[in-house]
Amino acid sequence: MFKFNYNDLMKTLFLLLITTWLMATEVEIEVLGSGGPEIDGRASASYLLWIDGKARLLVDSGSGSMLRFEQSGAKLEDLEAIVLTHLHIDHVVDLPSYIKAGYFTPRTRPLPILGPVGNQYFPGTDQFIKTLFGKKGAYRYMSDVLTPQSDSFQIIPESIDAPNLITRHFKHFALKVINVNHGIVPALGLKIDFDNKSIVISGDTSNVNGQLEKLAENADLFIAHHAITEIHGTYANNLHMTPGIIADVANTSHVKKVLLTHRMKRTIGKEEKSLKIMHKKYKGEIVFAEDRMKIKL
Ligand SMILES: [Zn+2]
Repeated sequence: MFKFNYNDLMKTLFLLLITTWLMATEVEIEVLGSGGPEIDGRASASYLLWIDGKARLLVDSGSGSMLRFEQSGAKLEDLEAIVLTHLHIDHVVDLPSYIKAGYFTPRTRPLPILGPVGNQYFPGTDQFIKTLFGKKGAYRYMSDVLTPQSDSFQIIPESIDAPNLITRHFKHFALKVINVNHGIVPALGLKIDFDNKSIVISGDTSNVNGQLEKLAENADLFIAHHAITEIHGTYANNLHMTPGIIADVANTSHVKKVLLTHRMKRTIGKEEKSLKIMHKKYKGEIVFAEDRMKIKL
């Protein structure tokens, strides 16, 4: 007959707890580049999503991004996708280096490269990739990378127009994107979802149309681009969020932590001022990014 044994029950519960803990997904985001386009010793915008010790998603590839990727020990063959928030030079210029380097890795499976659509000022992401690797592109010597017959692996560019949230599912995470305002530049804000956690990356945006609030609700980490101070010229304000605007988004959306990155000479050295403004509106933790900084979720 079954006999209730308190010690056995506790042992089972303990084992269950240990197993759950051991099996829990370990998610980290690494800042490959914490700077903007300036010459300042920082790599330009780039982030790497690590899941259980493997690099799964590269967000942006500004100058110096690939060197930081190499230093991080990440493997190109582990990536499930690359996403470009927009096509400003400080967000994409290292992209061809990754593709060339990939040729020397064991990677064979295709690599999706997602990014915004074009307008009269900017090509769409697929057009941009064709200007690099197409048959008439600058790097036409590698044009087979756009075909399934590629010597190494195929890259699959996709231009995404997302007036409302669009979700793409990958093996280890889901990616949500939405169009955000960055002056005349087509740009995407994004959210990375896995298990019960989420990371939101503002990309460059003024957030004038309030799109980030559609992504950021209850996010565990809000990576915000801190390119300008509170008082700036109209031109910069059309492109970027002030610390006050970042804090408003963080507060309204109840994000758990804010990481300020895309740091520029305009904001470096003024951290205390930015924090003072932000803390009035947002009570959570605020961290300033450095290259190679890793944040565990
Ligand atoms: Zn930009």
